[in-house]
Amino acid sequence: MIRSEILKELIPVISDHFVVCNIGLPSQEMHMLDDQPTNFYMLGTMGLSSSIGLGLALAQKQTIISIDGDGSVLTNLGTLPTIANNVADNFILLIIDNGSYGSTGDQPTYAGMKTSLTAVATACGCENVIECAAEDTKDVMVKAIASKKMTIIVSKCESGNVKVPVITKDPVVIRDRFMTALAARNAS
Ligand SMILES: [Mg+2]
Repeated sequence: MIRSEILKELIPVISDHFVVCNIGLPSQEMHMLDDQPTNFYMLGTMGLSSSIGLGLALAQKQTIISIDGDGSVLTNLGTLPTIANNVADNFILLIIDNGSYGSTGDQPTYAGMKTSLTAVATACGCENVIECAAEDTKDVMVKAIASKKMTIIVSKCESGNVKVPVITKDPVVIRDRFMTALAARNAS
């Protein structure tokens, strides 16, 4: 399975939650598959999906799911000790680990070589770190949401991309509609 196939399977499970999606193709794929105000697409700031998601989770009560990639987590490795030491039980970090920088042409990452992001996250002090095969991602996500415990999922999948249109929405619009939806949910 490749990332877009994982996302397609996840949509029925995560569509009702607030999702922060990694820069590049992951955001474009989510936008194509299930665009809605509860999705925050990053159009910049590579590596910060997990940081934005953690901050959102700490600041309010709704479940926040950050969809990140191995290349982006490697770009911002400091995020893992930050997450470990600032537990938010309404936060789920899904690292779709395809061993490549998918958005820039599938150059290999170290996560596909000697470096295990599962081991790194655990060594940083993160609890509930679950590595799974791509095919099991949906089931693991269902359990993580139900657990109401901060969870880091490392989904090992194949590299590969599908053709997707770019996101033409203004970043300010994406931010504002997300914040409006989040505030409305918290007020209800
Ligand atoms: Mg990747």
